[in-house]
Amino acid sequence: MWRRFRVLVCFACIALGVGAAVLGVRSYYVSDTLHLAARSHGDIFNGDEWSAEVFSNRGSIRFNVNTRRWHTVLENNHMPENGGPHWYSGPDQPVTPLPTRDLFGDRGAGFDRFGFGVGQYASTSSEGTDWTTYGHTAVRSPHWFISILLIVPPAMVLRRVMRLRYRRRAGLCPACGYDLRATPDRCPECGRQVPNSNDKPQAVR
Ligand SMILES: [Zn+2]
Repeated sequence: MWRRFRVLVCFACIALGVGAAVLGVRSYYVSDTLHLAARSHGDIFNGDEWSAEVFSNRGSIRFNVNTRRWHTVLENNHMPENGGPHWYSGPDQPVTPLPTRDLFGDRGAGFDRFGFGVGQYASTSSEGTDWTTYGHTAVRSPHWFISILLIVPPAMVLRRVMRLRYRRRAGLCPACGYDLRATPDRCPECGRQVPNSNDKPQAVR
């Protein structure tokens, strides 16, 4: 049961990794944006909201989380609509730099190199007694790096599972591959105990 689940998870990860690679090629022609969520609380006078999105563009994927808090005495503040996931794509766009210290002044921090990046900043704008605080956190990674993470470890697990399955069916030692048909309980080569005596060795087809 666990083994079957593990194999399923491996295949799912590999499928996602291939998807990330396809998205990476696509990102050089089309920019894709997935809005994960936008949530607001409060009213036009006092409130806070957050939103999250994934942005695929020119070989890298960027994850954003944005927050906004506001306080105002004027009724000119817009109240954004709450929303669930939605996706849209558009023409290729230039890569926007992540918010780093250089770009956003004293409260920003981060780096952005070779398609990898993390960035964070917070800023406040105020006018009289009104104020709005913005927060922004972003992580960027190249598609290829996500693909490798999603494909290589599951492929190694699958390779091991397949090898063990082959050795069990062929009557070989699961540890070293030595032929166990003469000594099915214990490997004479590496000393490994083979516990499963119900699983009789079968002829290799
Ligand atoms: Zn062995």
